[in-house]
Amino acid sequence: MTAHAPRRSLRSPADLVAAGLATPQARDTLDAVAAHYAIAITPEMAELIAPGDPGDPIARQFLPTDAELVTTPDERADPIGDARHSPIKGLVHRYPDRVLLKPTHACPVYCRFCFRREMVGPGGEALDAAELAAALDYVRARPAIREVILSGGDPLVLSARRIGEIVAAIDTIEHVDVVRLHSRVPLVDPGRIDDAMVAALNTRKALFVVLHANHAREFTPAGRAACARLVGAGIPMLSQSVLLRGVNDDVATLEALLRSFLACRIKPYYLHHPDLAPGTAGFRLGIEEGQRLVRQLRGRLSGLAQPLYVLDIPGGHGKVPVGPGYLRDGGVEDPGGTLHEIDR
Ligand SMILES: *Cc1c(COP(=O)(O)O)cnc(C)c1O
Ligand code: SF4
Repeated sequence: MTAHAPRRSLRSPADLVAAGLATPQARDTLDAVAAHYAIAITPEMAELIAPGDPGDPIARQFLPTDAELVTTPDERADPIGDARHSPIKGLVHRYPDRVLLKPTHACPVYCRFCFRREMVGPGGEALDAAELAAALDYVRARPAIREVILSGGDPLVLSARRIGEIVAAIDTIEHVDVVRLHSRVPLVDPGRIDDAMVAALNTRKALFVVLHANHAREFTPAGRAACARLVGAGIPMLSQSVLLRGVNDDVATLEALLRSFLACRIKPYYLHHPDLAPGTAGFRLGIEEGQRLVRQLRGRLSGLAQPLYVLDIPGGHGKVPVGPGYLRDGGVEDPGGTLHEIDR
């Protein structure tokens, strides 16, 4: 085993130095970052990081840097405006037919670009039993709510027993048809997707898992096996990714990522434009650049592999598709080379 393949998650600058993923000279800076934002890198992800290469796409996602200490004037603590749509602790109700339920603020990894980075972390309190019951009562009392989306944090860091209790409670709410979990766990901590977890997700409702991944290298053999266990248990999976400068902002990298999802029977769902979270300027690119990339995907990839490119409008207005548009002045534009000659 190499110095950078630890057996447990790295959770502090000292851990990063010990694992050879940060130099002792970087400690002061990293301690300053750690004072603001949580750090965690699972063994599976640490093992993928090429030490000494700050441009490595896995390192960029999970290794803290001094760039995070700079907040630009347009960045906000709550970039997508969850707070103004939270009627009760742990619940965000922005759309009539669905709610986000956040039973925990913990994640298996802490992404340096996270749009909820001011809220997530191991110190952030999870919902206790009474708070969870109150949130579920809110759903129970509103027949217009047809879908409960478990988010956080990452709901799959909870034990199978706790997940099972939440899923079973939602199962008793007659007007809810759909349960959705947004998670990185299947790839970043695949060992959690064991028989007990799969059993905990068994429900009469239509339950979906939306997998967050941003680079094809995140798909390790163990991670792919964890996805196969979920899909094999009859759980449909969808994807969400964030378009990130230096991680996946070129068409070949995006293509490889989307093909990885599809090969795991995971239908690409959303490609998010990066949000205005504090200290994340180094990850952002322009909408026009994003549109250019997405347009090229159209010509290169199966329709099955096409995600919807969306932007969460700051201030709580929700997600909107941001193109690209293909129709111009009554004509159809060549969508990124679809109309090119094919070599036979
Ligand atoms: C993203 C989000 C949802 C889910 O939106 P979909 O477009 O259905 O995936 C629901 N509620 C909130 C508050 C959200 O941010
Ligand atoms: S797993 Fe999701 S919620 Fe957690 S740090 Fe990453 S982006 Fe944020």
